[in-house]
Amino acid sequence: MNLQTLVRKNIWNLVPYSCARNEFTGEASVFLDANENPLNDPYNRYPDPFQDALKQKVSKVKGVDAANIFFGNGSDEPIDLVVRIFCEPRVDNIVAIDPTYGMYQVCADINDVEYRKVLLNEDFSLDAERLLAATDAYTKLIFLCSPNNPTANVLNQDEMLKVVRNFPGIVIVDEAYIDFADAPGLVSRLSEFPNLIILQTFSKAWGMAAIRLGMAFATTEIIGLFNKVKYPYNINLLTQTFVGESVGKEAEKHETVQMLVEQRAFLRKALLDFSFVKQVYPSDANFLLVKVDDANGLYDYLINRGIVIRNRTKLSLCKDTVRITVGTQEENKALLDALKTYPH
Ligand SMILES: *Cc1c(COP(=O)(O)O)cnc(C)c1O
Repeated sequence: MNLQTLVRKNIWNLVPYSCARNEFTGEASVFLDANENPLNDPYNRYPDPFQDALKQKVSKVKGVDAANIFFGNGSDEPIDLVVRIFCEPRVDNIVAIDPTYGMYQVCADINDVEYRKVLLNEDFSLDAERLLAATDAYTKLIFLCSPNNPTANVLNQDEMLKVVRNFPGIVIVDEAYIDFADAPGLVSRLSEFPNLIILQTFSKAWGMAAIRLGMAFATTEIIGLFNKVKYPYNINLLTQTFVGESVGKEAEKHETVQMLVEQRAFLRKALLDFSFVKQVYPSDANFLLVKVDDANGLYDYLINRGIVIRNRTKLSLCKDTVRITVGTQEENKALLDALKTYPH
């Protein structure tokens, strides 16, 4: 793979903005370089633009070199950045599985880049050859999502690697829900594939959606491109500090995941007892995709009882499905209690 031929010319040639914290790194005691207010320590200072201290900590937890990590304002930031780095508007295109996470198409649309959807199989499994057949010389990116949102299943690893090996562009595998899966994910294989970008996030298993921290794992060359294009101070100090303090608490995170996986099994079994539930698809994530007799009716009924689920009926292969996030035991019981009086 020749990275230069994949990257937009203007991005390859870009001279990135050089901020004060970039130009000087080292020890000093008087900082008069960034037009900061000298008072209100520590919030007066611009944060580390490359989040080195946090990368060291996350590197240990994830088993990925700090040089292969990019942090974004949620994983939504690297999703947008890959489109802007690789895709020439109105020339290049993106291929993605369908149905999947809506942000890939939104970022493509914002950047005026053609977005080609390739249906998963009826059982939501991946057909690598069908996906590859939708690509052409202008396809720069392929988006995969495993476990996939909203279908909840992990994609077959051999099938994903068939895509990675045979596609001459960049493959993004979004692993936002990987902590809830039995399968290990692709991070341990990262160094084998120069065209692979893996996305993970602190928003789901880590329970920190509010502080906005997403991760991209890739070659140092691709990380360099992300760093060139991102906003200089994309991760604020509060987020860097808070995640730095939390990322060591792996045991707590593991317990939360265990609890949610148990609740997922409980909820799945309980839902199957209702006659209006036609199918509860297998889940490797913290949500269930459920086929019912009337998704719109069920959604409205629950809303009127103060319970919000996601109606997915309009998505491909998802007619009359709803997506239900696994909550606490109390929340799940509240849902099931409300369903007991659902008229159908
Ligand atoms: C929730 C989710 C994310 C997380 O996005 P953040 O911006 O990190 O909060 C990413 N990808 C998928 C598929 C998701 O469902």
